[in-house]
Amino acid sequence: MLQKPSEKEQEYFLQQELARLKELREQHRQKLEEEERRRLKEMHFMHCPKCGQSMEVTQLQGVEVEVCPGCGGIFLDAGELDKVLEENRRGPFTQALAAVRKVFGA
Ligand SMILES: [Zn+2]
Repeated sequence: MLQKPSEKEQEYFLQQELARLKELREQHRQKLEEEERRRLKEMHFMHCPKCGQSMEVTQLQGVEVEVCPGCGGIFLDAGELDKVLEENRRGPFTQALAAVRKVFGA
């Protein structure tokens, strides 16, 4: 069956339009994801993951860590636990625990 050139043209432009719409939808989805990540970070940054209070920065074996004044939780950024343990090579775990107790004056 023969198609008129105009129908082929219409199909071509329709495909182009659909591809453009798909691209716009994808850009919109990525923008929403980015905004959601930014919103979550603003809402939770420097807040305790357990009780929601503002975390305070303190030193733990020369490493800056965040401590929650509400529940006593400690937050370590990526690699910070390794730094604390590195400072305590002779008896890593017990000395790290002692350092944690020291932070809370126990
Ligand atoms: Zn807390």
